[in-house]
Amino acid sequence: MTGDMPITDMEKKQIAQRRRLFFKICMRCGAKNPITATRCRKCHSSKDLRLKRRSLGAKK
Ligand SMILES: [Zn+2]
Repeated sequence: MTGDMPITDMEKKQIAQRRRLFFKICMRCGAKNPITATRCRKCHSSKDLRLKRRSLGAKK
């Protein structure tokens, strides 16, 4: 047995949403990379990744 709290679909969804909100933009080629990326998957630049955050709630 590994823990008594199973991961619910809700939690999975939230994680997925977070992943989608936070990503890295390559300053070199403009490619969107996952937050976990250490270098651009397109041009393989490891320096020019910029963290970008997209706000979820529309605050007006
Ligand atoms: Zn790139």
